[in-house]
Amino acid sequence: MLSKGILYVVATPIGNLDDFSVRAVRVLETVDLIAAEDTRHTRPLLRHYGISTQMVALHEHNEREVMGRLLRQLEEGQSLALVSDAGTPLISDPGFPLVREAGRLGIPVVPVPGVSAATCALSVAGLPTDRFLFAGFPPRQSSARQRWLQDLVAESATLVFYESSHRILSALKDMAEVFGAARESVVARELTKVHETLLRGRLDALIEIVAEDPNQQKGEFVVLVQGAGRGQSDQKTVETEQVLKVLLDELPLKQAAALAAKITGEKKNALYQQALAWKENP
Ligand code: SAM
Repeated sequence: MLSKGILYVVATPIGNLDDFSVRAVRVLETVDLIAAEDTRHTRPLLRHYGISTQMVALHEHNEREVMGRLLRQLEEGQSLALVSDAGTPLISDPGFPLVREAGRLGIPVVPVPGVSAATCALSVAGLPTDRFLFAGFPPRQSSARQRWLQDLVAESATLVFYESSHRILSALKDMAEVFGAARESVVARELTKVHETLLRGRLDALIEIVAEDPNQQKGEFVVLVQGAGRGQSDQKTVETEQVLKVLLDELPLKQAAALAAKITGEKKNALYQQALAWKENP
């Protein structure tokens, strides 16, 4: 019986080509085939490291049909490296069906770790990292986005979003609308590239900076938002929660949230969601 091949899942740089490990280079040099999200995108990386391994395209539109062939090759003993355009495959990138199927068929799946924009941003943001929630790309339309953000309003873990240049400003505005303008946040732009920028502050302050400077709307973005009730200097949050708790002892949830919003100046809806979360998880 043939021994099965290995599927390597290889992270690639998110900007600076030097952020690639010695092991990753060795794996790409020695596998039989590289499955790349976009072969044109991966070619400069291979050229940079003098790697001449053959590539095949595997993206979200052909993933299902190419996958069958790749799995057969793996079962026949060939080794394969999966890469995406940038960062870690499967993290807002293709590869999930292939990795799942390979695992199901007993094909060894081996990580060759490296950077991901999410963890890269978290490592420098200065927001709590004991718990974080990777939410990926928010919906493109503002109304859908606001509804989607509502589900996260009472989440106490640091929230991590990916966003594109087209929607960075409108997404920040929706976050301020839903989470409240005072939430501490970070906009991490063009990480590891020439125009790398880190903006830290309340959502309303970040919106002002990004709105006023068109350069701050260019490139790739990770947006991090401090979780509900996690501010170190957030005495205001603590006080707001105390007010809400006292009112909840005396009033129905909706009324308590409305009155707490009047007293504290916080968003009524955010307080309502917080109260709801307490009720569901006392
Ligand atoms: N798989 C990748 C990873 O591990 O980070 C993410 C791929 S996703 C299609 C692309 C998104 O990641 C961009 O729209 C942006 O939100 C984020 N991103 C990628 N590179 C970035 C960078 N250099 N700086 C900031 N954000 C980046």
